[in-house]
Amino acid sequence: MTEYLAGGTDVLSRRPIGRSTGPYTAVRPDLRGVSALPGGGVRIGAMTTVAELAADPLLRPYPALTATAGALATPQIRTVATLGGNLLQRNRCWYYRNPHFSCLQTGGSGCPARAGAHLYSSVVDLSPCVAPHPSTVAVALLVQDAVVEVAGRGRMPVADLYDADPTRDHVLAPSDLLLAVELPAGTHGERAAYHRATARSRAEWPLVEAVARLVPTPADPATAPAGVGRVAVAVGGVARTPLRLTEVERAIADGASPADAAATVTRRCAPLAQTGYKVGLLRDTVRHVLETVLG
Ligand SMILES: Cc1cc2nc3c(=O)[nH]c(=O)nc-3n(C[C@H](O)[C@H](O)[C@H](O)COP(=O)(O)OP(=O)(O)OC[C@H]3O[C@@H](n4cnc5c(N)ncnc54)[C@H](O)[C@@H]3O)c2cc1C
Ligand code: SF4
Repeated sequence: MTEYLAGGTDVLSRRPIGRSTGPYTAVRPDLRGVSALPGGGVRIGAMTTVAELAADPLLRPYPALTATAGALATPQIRTVATLGGNLLQRNRCWYYRNPHFSCLQTGGSGCPARAGAHLYSSVVDLSPCVAPHPSTVAVALLVQDAVVEVAGRGRMPVADLYDADPTRDHVLAPSDLLLAVELPAGTHGERAAYHRATARSRAEWPLVEAVARLVPTPADPATAPAGVGRVAVAVGGVARTPLRLTEVERAIADGASPADAAATVTRRCAPLAQTGYKVGLLRDTVRHVLETVLG
């Protein structure tokens, strides 16, 4: 079965361990670039690099996206890695990345991580597979209300790319080609804050990451107290899928402090034996981005 090859930073790292065998189909190079949509908003081709997401002038109205794209991985990876490849990359679980183990993601019958070494695994337990979803860009696209277009399937909200199925990291079939991501028109004056907690200072996936987007009032006076604005929050590194935190957003809309709003996320947590530290880390990371964006 053929697998698409974009920047190759994930595919080619899986090849030596037998988690990707080829043959490969290169993603069409013409799917690269950012363009303005006639009715407002932008369309970003799947082959646009992560570095280009961070720097393209047409994406300045989308600070949640540019901030996360500019912070993930390393400058070298961002120069090569693409939007499509980032959204569809495979998970980083130690067992999945070790050819001597079999698990639910490789056709096996159980999850050795759940009973074994799972220090970096989920704290929101949505699935028999406890590998957190690895895409940082997906977290940003959740708060930007992005839509993805897939050849032959049409458009769908970015959240629908992911489910908690323990046998896969996204819902697309190997033959499905992700064409582009579309963002609705940004709001003048919107702000964003992104923060990642990592186990080492660089070249690492986050233990927990959070992004908050503030759309200033009067964009939505029905759900936001005057003078604050509508806040959207999403997190990664904590569950089988990237998560939009609607309970935190509601708490802010109801006038809660960032600390109290962030504390509501702990109700989702069901830590594994080694991921209890992520409960406080998640709460405090969410609090940090809320305080930054509202401050
Ligand atoms: C040290 C290090 C740190 C990293 N830290 C982070 C981090 O913090 N956050 C983060 O998000 N990532 C991180 N990464 C991962 C990196 O961002 C991804 O490997 C990269 O984004 C994948 O993009 P690519 O274009 O190279 O994908 P590829 O390796 O080419 O493809 C990845 C997958 O997507 C599929 N695919 C690609 N494009 C399409 C398409 N258009 N349609 C259908 N299928 C497609 C491929 O078939 C493959 O299965 C890190 C990587 C390294 C090495
Ligand atoms: S967490 Fe997921 S990828 Fe890791 S061993 Fe378990 S089933 Fe496999």
